[in-house]
Amino acid sequence: MSQENQKTCPTCMGNKIIPGVCESSQEWTGSTNEDDMQCTPDEKCPTCDGAGFVVED
Ligand SMILES: [Zn+2]
Repeated sequence: MSQENQKTCPTCMGNKIIPGVCESSQEWTGSTNEDDMQCTPDEKCPTCDGAGFVVED
């Protein structure tokens, strides 16, 4: 049997996703509305493809 060396993904730290980020868009639009936030959704980690770990040779 082959032995796989799995280690926690360094990109997502085993979380399997990259958390979304919210930023105020005031500086872009000049809006003064505090609720005017731009958020990116959580994304599947591209490094481990959502596995939470990577396999080293
Ligand atoms: Zn990952």
